[in-house]
Amino acid sequence: MMQMPLLISSLVRHAARHSGDTEIVSKRVEGDMHRTTWAEVELRSRKLAQALQRLGHRSGDRIATMAWNGYRHLEIYYGSSGSQLICHTINPRLFPEQIAWIANDAADGALFFELNFLPLIEKLAAQLPTVKHFVLMTARAHMPAQTAIPNLLCYEELVEAEDGDYRWPSFDENTASSICYTSGTTGNPKGAVYSHRSSVLHAYAAALPDAMDCSAADVVLPVVPMFHVNAWGLPYAAALVGCKLVMPGPHLDGKSLYELFEQEKVSFSAGVPTVWLGLLTYAKTNALKFSTFKRTVIGGSACPPAMMKTLQDDFGVEVIHAWGMTELSPLGTLSKLKSKHASLPRDAQQKLLEKQGRAIYGIDMAIIDDDGRALPWDGAASGNLVVRGPWVIASYFGQSGQSPLLTVDGEPGWFPTGDVATIDADGFMQITDRSKDVIKSGGEWISSIDLENIAMAHPAVHEAAVIAARHPKWDERPLLVVVKKPDAQVTRDELLGFYEGRIAKWQIPDDVAFVAELPHTATGKIQKLKLREQFKEHRLPGV
Ligand code: ADP
Repeated sequence: MMQMPLLISSLVRHAARHSGDTEIVSKRVEGDMHRTTWAEVELRSRKLAQALQRLGHRSGDRIATMAWNGYRHLEIYYGSSGSQLICHTINPRLFPEQIAWIANDAADGALFFELNFLPLIEKLAAQLPTVKHFVLMTARAHMPAQTAIPNLLCYEELVEAEDGDYRWPSFDENTASSICYTSGTTGNPKGAVYSHRSSVLHAYAAALPDAMDCSAADVVLPVVPMFHVNAWGLPYAAALVGCKLVMPGPHLDGKSLYELFEQEKVSFSAGVPTVWLGLLTYAKTNALKFSTFKRTVIGGSACPPAMMKTLQDDFGVEVIHAWGMTELSPLGTLSKLKSKHASLPRDAQQKLLEKQGRAIYGIDMAIIDDDGRALPWDGAASGNLVVRGPWVIASYFGQSGQSPLLTVDGEPGWFPTGDVATIDADGFMQITDRSKDVIKSGGEWISSIDLENIAMAHPAVHEAAVIAARHPKWDERPLLVVVKKPDAQVTRDELLGFYEGRIAKWQIPDDVAFVAELPHTATGKIQKLKLREQFKEHRLPGV
């Protein structure tokens, strides 16, 4: 067989050849809509690669972005990785000190950013000594007359100055292509470095029918940002299948998203549960339905069954529950039924779909006890989830001497996910908790996810989180923290009563705290660490 390295540039070349006139539609920071095609994106990616070479960036240099989902960001993905540079997406929702820390840790050589981040970058520029080129992702008309950033470059000028006479280079598929930092809910953020090979294999896997099920017949709107683990691989998978892409830019409120879904005839989307809260509230309040939206992948944190039900029953949208993490590029498992499940009653099917799902080929998983022994796949035994595969990291950026990997039943090379899970005989994995969020009551473990899912099914609850509160006898007991829906009335006792018959009595939370809003991480997950801090003095009733 021929030796063809799996390179990221081959994805965009394929899209340009076979789906050249398929559209990429972007809602820009500047406020307008922009329409381009895969052919145009590929050409401009080549021009960008030329520009980066001209600026003196060489193989392995890190090219950072602070950008929303849009065609220019897509061009940077392909233009940088394709020319053997490393695309480093930075989450702009992080604190400025964290952004500087990450850019310095990666020693970024260039920083591409969007218009609305100009004030932030003006403040940060002096703290980024490795960044030789700051590039504002806009046209000349929007460039500031004056700025504190030295030699600020204009993206459109940079790209348009080149002739596109550039051939994508061929090199070892194990070359680093991109880097993404975990959001750092525990300690400093850590960089996961993906390779061309891992990214292409992940794109193949992501598009499979039992995964995201993407094809050229789809119109895909990634709500998940391109700075959150490469938008779960969608910018690559979309090129691989040659589908139309709809990019929402920073416009992620319910109304903007709904209008975009309808105008562009979106069939498929993906995002964390919190973004759907906004969209569904908007659609429900205005009695709207989706006319083309058929499927969505929800992951990043547990999708509450109540949200799944609303999407499926009220809006006719199939929900594919997925689990993954930055260290896994990120896809690990997705929940799709097997043929043998077709005859199951609807409720039993639903129970399976609510799980985090089955591993895609490429990901091998196991659950282990604290001594590193593998536990049975019986749907009951719960243990620490470990994984391995060609798109799982072997070490963190800059820490190649410190392997995070474990040995399981004598086999080395397993990555500890920090999640606690069960796996059933059909391979359906279910996350019960993150090991640090699990509530340890009198030596027994209580799943915070189970308790949150029940609360989310109550009609008055907008968002819910369950954390451990100190207890003198049991050590920890669950505390439910709730954001009510606007105008909804519900008492503490009504909410606790709602748990009766839905879960074992000893697992029912001891107390409820009502708050105006919950703290979220930069990727839209509930920040349990902060919540625990906020409620560390909370006195449970009777204590
Ligand atoms: P961070 O670790 O910085 O929060 P990641 O996006 O890498 O960023 O988060 C991965 C973690 O998110 C997983 O280890 C798991 O705890 C959680 N997670 C992801 N998807 C799901 C899901 N479907 N259900 C429950 N937890 C999930």
